[in-house]
Amino acid sequence: MKVLLASPRGFCAGVNMAIDSLELALEAFGSPIYVYHEIVHNQYVVNHFRSRGVTFLDSVDEAPEGATLLFSAHGVSPEVRAAAKARRLRAIDATCPLVTKVHLEAIKYAKQGRTIVLIGHEGHDEVIGTMGEAPEAIVLVESPEDVDRLEIADPDNMAYLTQTTLSVDDTARVIARLRERFPNIAGPAKSDICYATQNRQEAVSKLSAEADLTLVLGSQNSSNSQRLAELSKESGVPAYLIDGPQDLRPEWFDGVETVLVTAGASAPEKTVEAVLDLLAAEHNATVEPRLVREESVSFPLPRELRALASS
Ligand code: SF4
Repeated sequence: MKVLLASPRGFCAGVNMAIDSLELALEAFGSPIYVYHEIVHNQYVVNHFRSRGVTFLDSVDEAPEGATLLFSAHGVSPEVRAAAKARRLRAIDATCPLVTKVHLEAIKYAKQGRTIVLIGHEGHDEVIGTMGEAPEAIVLVESPEDVDRLEIADPDNMAYLTQTTLSVDDTARVIARLRERFPNIAGPAKSDICYATQNRQEAVSKLSAEADLTLVLGSQNSSNSQRLAELSKESGVPAYLIDGPQDLRPEWFDGVETVLVTAGASAPEKTVEAVLDLLAAEHNATVEPRLVREESVSFPLPRELRALASS
């Protein structure tokens, strides 16, 4: 068996920053430390931190007064920030700067009195956070059909934004429909889909044609990982989203000679290595690294932690 090992894959700059922030906070303040929602959408990462005394919360009220609380890479609404302040929590903001950029655009467009169409998945942490910046001004759509159903009072005063981890191709279709229906709509040149999501999708698009099967390391609630598996399936190559080698099924490999292995932006390299070890042991697999695009992005630690990091 041959394994095509896609690059770039795995941790992006936002996830690295969020994980480093939590590590540093643990070192500096000790446990218990609280995180609002999962620090990143990955079971392995969440379990690792849970075992070290981190508690993941769905409500700020669950944190004891005065405790240390991190906001995850997906960002939070102003309401959550205010609740943390009211409980006198030591809040550390590990929101990815590329998510913050979308929040700032939402605030700007709302101040201009525009109706904002947000393209994203209902219920995703990032979408909830972005919508919270201007709840009265934002409507959520997921598909071109949703765009057809929109009823907007002032169609000449609109803007659109997108979740950062969407399918590039699907989003382009939604934006095309928006521009068709609302020619004066403002928005980013293409979308707010981040570099990491785009690069990982580009690698799967280019490499899946050479494979009989695609394995995507990532958790089921990871949006960008889900999109990678979908992309492979759309090009006719079966794909499975897995947390690690424990999820592999022997029947997936019947008649398979070439496997594409990649990982979503929140999946640790350790889980990729564990899958490669198993493929080598059970299928005598040899690995062929395939670099599709170089990445050299990094983000600074949250303001609240920078002094600690340098001391
Ligand atoms: Fe930031 Fe993109 Fe990574 Fe999300 S996937 S944390 S937006 S770099």
